[in-house]
Amino acid sequence: MGADHHTGAEAELLFLLLLAEEFPEQRVVHERMAGLFGRLRRVNVDDGRHGALGGVAVRALGRWDVGRRFEHRHGGWETYPARATGPFGLQGRYNEPERQTDRYGLRKQKPKTSHKRCEMDPNFVNRDKLAKYLEKTLDITRFRDYCPNGIQVQGREVVKTIVTGVTASGALIEAALEAKADAILVHHGYFWRGEDPRVVGSRHKRLKLLLTNDINLFAYHLPLDMHPEFGNNVRLARQLELNVEEGRFGENGLGWLGTAGDNVKTVGDLAQVIEQRLGRTPLVIGDLKQRVERIGWCTGAAQNMLAEAIAAGASAYLSGEISEPTVHLARETGVAYLACGHHATERYGVQALGEHIADQFGIEHCFVDIDNPV
Ligand SMILES: [Zn+2]
Repeated sequence: MGADHHTGAEAELLFLLLLAEEFPEQRVVHERMAGLFGRLRRVNVDDGRHGALGGVAVRALGRWDVGRRFEHRHGGWETYPARATGPFGLQGRYNEPERQTDRYGLRKQKPKTSHKRCEMDPNFVNRDKLAKYLEKTLDITRFRDYCPNGIQVQGREVVKTIVTGVTASGALIEAALEAKADAILVHHGYFWRGEDPRVVGSRHKRLKLLLTNDINLFAYHLPLDMHPEFGNNVRLARQLELNVEEGRFGENGLGWLGTAGDNVKTVGDLAQVIEQRLGRTPLVIGDLKQRVERIGWCTGAAQNMLAEAIAAGASAYLSGEISEPTVHLARETGVAYLACGHHATERYGVQALGEHIADQFGIEHCFVDIDNPV
């Protein structure tokens, strides 16, 4: 493609940018723009001619809001000039993987970013894109939960650093502030069903901290318990070296079944593995010398699923917490119950998920363990 074509396409692009600004609802304008971006990008890559596109890119950046509106309306840059990194990201990166084209927010803040500077900046992901990714990955619409899953408190758009933790406590928010995090990802967020909805007391303090510091709070409850790869149950199994069987039990199929390794023959052996691998002594209701065959488990406060675990054929059942009736049921059925700690059993899912999104988007991740004896 020759220079004349460049000029023609660039003029058309500018015209369309103006049109898009005036008529942001017109999809046809955006589609035409996307096509043009694609053409210009290919030309740019082909002949290494950055100069002519420079003017277009600068002007396009000046009209950034058009793109932003588009992004919100059409659900992200994949449908629009994600392929058009060229005109927006004039400094190169055309052939880089998708994750590295997600630098639009940065360009908005620092449109004059040089290539070298770009290389030195950590990657980031747009807040809403991350929420969409997590929604899909964790299949959150599948669950009827006791709290909202997803962004619970909205913060800044650009996420470079994420802190994960079990619970969005005041201490975790403080730790996230110290880590200069843009987002916090937890298993236990806020706004639980039946809770007093008023923004007073410690809820006020937590929300104020998040809002004044513009930090996002992402929370995933049941979807994070259940996920086959990043879920609390599967990760607890890995931590305890349990072999997962296919069957599930209990509401939502939250209870998991499996067997332990050859080193675990009795309830006492199982308790020892838990102590070593979770760093805390479980409360055991049952005979330590009793043989263990099939094991049932569910992380958190699932002590009331003991009866269902027994019905599913478990000879020992473990969860996080314990209630008074759990003791009697375990004694009367002869099925051992091991209370391993709500917090201790739910440290691993959110950590795995944090590592995964850090990998996926090239952002920073750090798990903060605010110890909890329960
Ligand atoms: Zn929990």
